[in-house]
Amino acid sequence: SKPVVTSINPATGDVLQTFTPHGSANVDAAIERADDRFQTWRLSSLTERSRLMHKAADILDARKDAFARTMTMEMGKPLREAIAEVEKCALVCRHYADHAEAYLKDETIETEAKRSYVRNLPIGPVLAVMPWNYPFWQVFRFAAPTLMAGNVGLLKHASNVWGSALNIEKVFREAGFPEGCFQTLLIGSKAIEGVIRDSRVKAVTLTGSGPAGRSVASIAGEELKPSLLELGGSDAFIVMPSADIAKAVETAVKSRNKNNGQSCIAAKRFFVHAEIYDAFTRDFVKQVEALRVGDPMLDTTDIGPLATKAIRDDLVSQVDATLKGGAQLISKPADVDDKGWWFAPQVLSEAPRGTPGSDEEMFGPAANLWRVDSLPEAILKANHSDFGLGSAIFTQDEAEIEEAVRDLQAGSTFVNALVASDPRLPFGGVKQSGYGRELAADGIKAFVNRKTVSVS
Ligand code: NDP
Repeated sequence: SKPVVTSINPATGDVLQTFTPHGSANVDAAIERADDRFQTWRLSSLTERSRLMHKAADILDARKDAFARTMTMEMGKPLREAIAEVEKCALVCRHYADHAEAYLKDETIETEAKRSYVRNLPIGPVLAVMPWNYPFWQVFRFAAPTLMAGNVGLLKHASNVWGSALNIEKVFREAGFPEGCFQTLLIGSKAIEGVIRDSRVKAVTLTGSGPAGRSVASIAGEELKPSLLELGGSDAFIVMPSADIAKAVETAVKSRNKNNGQSCIAAKRFFVHAEIYDAFTRDFVKQVEALRVGDPMLDTTDIGPLATKAIRDDLVSQVDATLKGGAQLISKPADVDDKGWWFAPQVLSEAPRGTPGSDEEMFGPAANLWRVDSLPEAILKANHSDFGLGSAIFTQDEAEIEEAVRDLQAGSTFVNALVASDPRLPFGGVKQSGYGRELAADGIKAFVNRKTVSVS
């Protein structure tokens, strides 16, 4: 019998759909189409690429409800957050449609030559290995700059969101991108190695876990192909006495719990100054306990189920180990259904070093709080993590802002604001959160040949 991949509704545990994975002949044919298409796509005008990318944005806007429903069914995020995700994908398409020309234009450098400059040239088919947590956004933030740069894309999406993976392919096809510009490969993670090693594939980008990133990067390394990794984080969120506490609490609750707590740039570790710790914590716990857990299709729901049984089980064992290791549970978690992969939001405090709450990424709605006596102590503890994706500080003090910007080991620091990706700002991490930058000008230059030209 043929192998099948089954997608399961995490809200109920029921089977949604089954898919037949692509065999090696299908994959080879897709790579061949990508390679063929690249030969003409690289010569297409930016005006033409931009026209098609605007069309893709219009399709996303027009069909956002249907695309969002599939995402929610496949991975459980609240429907209204799924709709907002599709809208944000339209935004990133329009951003690159409108700005690619300026981002890519020749960069003149004065020398003794008649003229010298850098020209940004596309390199060919790029493979994207993507996760399920933002099934559309993670892909579009790769696809929009990649296609606008004149490259072509191959998507290997997480095995639990193949309905969304096929929807994304449909968006580009219906927008009028020529065949082979963007293709979804329905393959498991074992088939990735062959695609990376294929000489027609020129680069790989991955968003996901550390082990997946290590595997992809080592194969790319052996093949001497560029790679970009976005591997999650355990972002610090620091609150100082001068902060607007109400705003800090509201942002903290949102940052930890949006997308059912399954976001790489969610604030996961909160360091709160002793002077305001009690006030902050009281309101934080109150607001976490008020989050409505339930059917993600309903407008009144804040928290749906976790995406898979494995994610739920891992989080439960991380919380158990953290409590056994000496942390306290300081909120009262809501009761949840046995059917489906439910986990009620909760708040832990003072997780000792060596426990998962301190050292690992918790990929779900469990927050860890610590009381600190100074900013240097908060920063020292924040930097204890192996990760370095985003970071946030709430303060009105300029000197504290400067210290945080200088000393926090992270790819971004947001001050008095939610850490969020924005097509206009580069996005990426340091340390175990990966390397390379997506979005903005960096994102479109991630996979180009920055050719030096000197004319005498
Ligand atoms: P994975 O990293 O396993 O999945 C992400 C993607 O990588 C999927 O397409 C997956 O394919 C693929 N993949 C899995 N293993 C390998 C491998 N050895 N080589 C190449 N590709 C691989 O994430 P999980 O869903 O298992 O989540 C585990 C943890 O990863 C989470 O708890 C979280 O900590 C982190 N994570 C971080 C994300 C982020 O936004 N940075 C997003 C998702 C997860 P397939 O589905 O077929 O296995």
